[in-house]
Order: sequence, then structure tokens, then C-alpha cells
Amino acid sequence: MLLNQPHPLETRVLTRRFEYPQKNPIWVDEFVAKQGYEGFRKALGMSPDEIIEEVKKSSLRGRGGAGFPTGLKWSFVDRKSSKPKYVVVNGDEGEPGTCKDRVLIEHDPHRLIEGCLICARAIGAERGWVYIRGEYRFHIDILDKAIAEAYERGYLGENILGSGMTFHLSTHTGAGSYECGEESALLESLEGKRGNPRLKPPFPATVGAFQCPTTVNNVETFCAVPDILLNGGDWYHALGTPKNGGTRMVCLSGHINNPGVYEVPLGFNMKRLIEEIGGGVWKGRKLKAVIPGGSSSPILTADEVDIPADYDSLAKAGSMLGSGATMVCDETTDMVKLLARVMKFYAHESCGWCIPCREGTAWLAKILARMDEGAGMTRDIDMIDQLATSMFGRTFCALGDAAAMPTMSIVRKFRNEFEAKIGSTEVFVPAPGTQPLVVL
Ligand code: SF4
Repeated sequence: MLLNQPHPLETRVLTRRFEYPQKNPIWVDEFVAKQGYEGFRKALGMSPDEIIEEVKKSSLRGRGGAGFPTGLKWSFVDRKSSKPKYVVVNGDEGEPGTCKDRVLIEHDPHRLIEGCLICARAIGAERGWVYIRGEYRFHIDILDKAIAEAYERGYLGENILGSGMTFHLSTHTGAGSYECGEESALLESLEGKRGNPRLKPPFPATVGAFQCPTTVNNVETFCAVPDILLNGGDWYHALGTPKNGGTRMVCLSGHINNPGVYEVPLGFNMKRLIEEIGGGVWKGRKLKAVIPGGSSSPILTADEVDIPADYDSLAKAGSMLGSGATMVCDETTDMVKLLARVMKFYAHESCGWCIPCREGTAWLAKILARMDEGAGMTRDIDMIDQLATSMFGRTFCALGDAAAMPTMSIVRKFRNEFEAKIGSTEVFVPAPGTQPLVVL
């Protein structure tokens, strides 16, 4: 349902086996008939260092949000350790607006398994898990069935394809916590504990799942790997821009005529994405702003979106590529309401461990809810900015930053809308269900 008809401007690598109109997942026979597991077969004839080098050449960067170079991440895994090594797939997909991993699993589950196998070969792992959010029951069932098929055909298990390689893979269901999308919290959850983030360093490459060297990558990242091995790192790299290789999945949503999931080269112009692939802003309205990489990314105004959508260009524009969730806001969007809703989410999802995030998100949510009710005070505007600024960079994990970044950008770029929400008196009136605000 999220999958649109292919658009001529798309570059389909990860989605190249998808069928239109949508049909059942591509099961193992069809997958193998369409070059499935060929990247892995090639990897079997390569050394771990050669595989990692090929991934480095591709300039593939983590598609979960952080954008860390994948080949480099794999090279950090302590392969000389006597402990087991593990492959963990981050399929938590909790960033609001993001719905690409589920599409990849739903349509081409063996691609993910093949990506895991190649990674296992590169880091010397014999065990892996796909950590996937519990709400994705439909997708978990598809992946479980594909894993069973892979075991049946000798792509998983012991002595895979007669190579002597062993690799076991299974799904692990999360409980729907945004925090468990952070890799160390995910590992805690995988181990059966509360999903709190870990102190870093040590990083998972040395001390990961069950205290063993582990690599954690996003679903889309693993899904890109088979074609990199099949066609070479240079080929994949050339699909994008010089410093941002390959393609990426974009989840286009909001006030847009053709919402959906599309695959475009890194560096595809964001304005063209909205106008030509997305069919433009709905109802003939004007574009007001775009959230380019999930709710945690700083917002861009309509004047700022005529840029290549890649890691570096978005960072230069003061935002980030994030998880590929591109949310379009038309001219009628109430920015105070939008931020109040976003902050309600982060206050709810904060694990409460560190004070700047626990108190900051909760107070921001209360102040923004009150402003949205029309009971804001003049001093609230600067207080929102100051609260977010004091959270930024001072929290234990990235959730604090994820809440602070959209807040700072929205309140600074759309200050007039906050001023318009100032109440008729400067007397504090609590919003329904909120606690009185004490300003020290
Ligand atoms: Fe928990 Fe938030 Fe601190 Fe992360 S930043 S550890 S989510 S309280």
C-alpha cells in the first residue's frame, strides 16, 4: 500500500525486484532466478578484508539516521577476538515518518538475509538477529517464512552451500520503544533487559550483544550490500554523488499529492523530489516547509529545499538526511501545533535516565501544549529556545538532540507563529491536564 508505481525518475536498485501492481513477497525461487544470493556467492570467494574494501569503495553510509560509513563500521569489529561475533539488523524503524524498512522486508525479504550473510562472512559471525518492532507482525511473519526457506535451501545453517561457513539468523521482536532504535539500547533489549542506552565507548564493534563484537546496521543498509558485491563498490558509488554513494529509500509524506516510498540516487534534488516525483503540494497550495529526514531533523523552509538531498548538502543547510522520511508541510500548517505534537512524542519516548532529556522534553511538551491552546506568554518563546539549546549535546543518547534540533529550528524560523499564539493576558493559564509551570 505504501508502494507506488515506479516513477521514471527513480533509480531502482533495492526495489528492482518489486512487482507492480503489488503482489506477494518474492520468495526464494523467484529471488534466486533474479540474481538472488549471487552477491553472497561472490563473497564466498573473497576474503573478509576484500569484502570490507568493496563496501568501503561503495561509500555506503548507514541508512538508519546516523549515516556512519558501513565498510568502516564493519572494519572496527574485533575479528581477532576469541569471542563469537554477531550481526544485528536494526529493524526498529521508530522515527516518525519512516516506513521504508517494512517495505523492503515485505517485498524482498531474502535481500535482507543475503545482506546479513555477506556481513557475517566479512566479520566472521556465525549468529545474527533481525530486531524488528512488534507492531510489524505482518512483516515479521514474512521474514520468518523467508528465513525458513533459506534454511531449507542451504543458505542458512551449517556448511552453507558447501563452503564450510555457518550462520544462523532469526527475528527478535521489540516492544515498540523509540529508544530501542539506538543501537546500544537495542542490544540491551535484545538481551532481554530494559532498553536503556549504554555508555560508549566501548562501542558494539568490540563489546556488543552479550558482550561480544557486534555490528548493528539498519535494514536498508544491509539490503544495499548484495548489489554492491554483485556489481562492485565503484558501480554503487557512481550512482550517487562523489561523497555520497548509491541510492536511498525516501518516505514521502504529509501534504503531498503522491505520498509513498521511492528509491532515488543520493543527491537527488529535494525540490524536484517533491514537485516531480511527489506530484507537488496537495490541493494546489504553496509549500511552507519540509522536514527532510524524520521528525528529529531540523526543518527547512520552502526557500531552502532547492538542494541535493545527500548527507553533506543537508548538513550544510543546517539539517540532516536522517532516516529518509521527508515530510511536506503546506502553507496552512500550524507550526506551533506541529512542534507540540512532535514534542509530545519525544516526552513520551524519553527513557527518563538523564535529566536534560527527561525534564527538557516534558517541560517543552507542557509549554508547547499550553501555547497551542492559545495561553502562551511572551517569555515562553525564548524559554522554548533556551530549553532546547541547553538540552542539545548534553544528553546521554541522541534522543535529547532529536527533540532539541526540530525545536530550535522551528521556533527560530517561524517565530511569528509562536508570537501569534500569545494569549490576551500574560497570566499563566495551565493547559488541560498539565502541571503548573514554575520558572526559576
Ligand atoms: Fe534516556 Fe533521553 Fe537520556 Fe537518551 S537522552 S538516555 S532517551 S533520558
